[in-house]
Parts: sequence; C-alpha cells; structure tokens
Amino acid sequence: MTTVLAVANQKGGVAKTTTVASLGAALSALGRRVLVVDLDPQGCLTFSLGHNPDRLERSVHEVLLGEAEAKDVLLDTEEGMSLLPATIDLAGAEAMLLMKPGREYALKRALATLEGAFDVIVVDCPPSLGVLTLNGLTAAHSVLVPLQCETLAHRGVGQLLRTVREVKQITNPDLDLLGALPTLYDSRTTHSRDVLADVSDRYDLPVLSPPIPRTVRFAEASASGATVLAGRRNKGAEAYRELARNLVGYWSGESELEVLDQLIT
Ligand code: ADP
Ligand code: MG
Repeated sequence: MTTVLAVANQKGGVAKTTTVASLGAALSALGRRVLVVDLDPQGCLTFSLGHNPDRLERSVHEVLLGEAEAKDVLLDTEEGMSLLPATIDLAGAEAMLLMKPGREYALKRALATLEGAFDVIVVDCPPSLGVLTLNGLTAAHSVLVPLQCETLAHRGVGQLLRTVREVKQITNPDLDLLGALPTLYDSRTTHSRDVLADVSDRYDLPVLSPPIPRTVRFAEASASGATVLAGRRNKGAEAYRELARNLVGYWSGESELEVLDQLIT
C-alpha cells in the first residue's frame, strides 16, 4: 500500500518544501520508492530538485485538470525520488478546479492511478489554504505541519487545524494529523523551546522528534539541485534521516511516533 503524506502550513518560509525534499531523499535512502509532488505554483520543489519549471511542457496542473496522466508527467531526480513537478500554470488551476464538481478529489484520483508504483508519496502544499491545499489534505493519509521556531509561529496554526478538522469531516475522515515538526531550530537558545511548548500547549498538538536544526547547508543544497542529504555529512541531513526512521517505524506499526513530550512540562 502507498502512504501519502501532506506537508502543510499556509505560512511561507517554514521549511515545507525543504522538508518534502529532504524527507523524500531520506525515505528513498531507506529503500522506499518515493514520489514527491509539487503543489505550489512557485515550483520551488521542482526547481530545488534540479528541474526548471519554466522549461516543462506539462506538470501537475494538466494532471489535476484531467488533461494528462500522472505517470506521463513524472520526472527523475538525482537522489532516486520521482517528482510530479509544478509550473506557474498551476496558479490558474485554482480557478479552473473551482468550477469542477469533486474539485477537492482531483489529486487523490490522480495518485490512485499510480497505486503500487510507490511506497510513499510526499506532497508539498502551497502557502495558502485554498483548493490546492485541500487537494493535498484530501489525498493524504497523514499530515505534518512544519513550524518555524520563532515568536508568532503559532499565528495561523489555529486556522490550519480548523481546515484539517473540516477536511476530516467532509472529504477525508481517516486523515491522521501527525503533529508539528519544529524547523529552523536553534538548540543554543531557550527561545525555540519556549515557542514549541507554547504551540503544543495552546493547540494540544504533538511535536515530532527530532527538531530540524538551523544550518546554512539547506540554502547551499537547494541552489545545487540536490538535497542536504547529497552533500557532506551534516546535522540537518541527520535530523531528516532520523525523522524518516521515526515515520517508517510508525507507519509499519513497529513503533510509536516519537514526540518531544519533555517540552510540554
Ligand atoms: P516553505 O516551503 O515553507 O516556504 P522553504 O522550504 O522554501 O519553506 O524554506 C524557506 C527558506 O528557509 C529556504 O531558503 C530554505 O533553504 C531555508 N531553510 C529551510 N530549512 C532550513 C534549516 N533547517 N536551516 C536553515 N535554513 C533552512
Ligand atoms: Mg514551499
């Protein structure tokens, strides 16, 4: 069976795209067959995995509108994952989808045609709670919320959790909210920890382990068309490898999801 994971937060710059690419590469390194899906019209995931969105003839846009088969649009990446890319055309998909019945199910239908081809599909949602994110959440079995550990990180979390609840009520009753993933984490200060404890208290949201440390390697990697896992050993890559092991253990039923409960005290 294929597990579909949506990575969502309507706030930009919280490391959604970085998480999809790095976690995808880490799952791939564990021997999983991985597809990553770019649902953001900006195409940052597509770009960061070595493909220029401006030069692509077809993308997830045509797939969502039923004009192309997902399998015909997939691209290879250097680290073994497959990519369902985005182009700026996707900005128009929102309006086009709105006129269609069952518009929240377009991605779910498209991914169903790939059943059996992948073990894990990771979906990079755009920074909004529009119809594209609803498609990501409707297609997913689980959802992960990257959260930048800074003051006011919690703004918008309530709204996102309301959307997740609505999706569960209406289009996807089995959606599993895994929790928040702390990103851009600075372990040298207590500030990051205070922010996490606050969010976790306020929303009764599990905080997943491990936190992803802030390191310049991420910026270097996305400019090079590969993820942080491709370069020299570094703590960012190690954190995503550990997260991948945590999720694989959980999905296989072998272990509980590891959470940072010591923060909540
Ligand atoms: P989003 O998709 O949520 O908008 P991105 O993944 O594009 O966020 O990340 C925003 C910026 O933060 C990018 O420039 C990325 O390289 C950088 N970044 C992401 N994670 C880290 C990290 N752990 N340490 C340092 N920089 C990071
Ligand atoms: Mg992004």
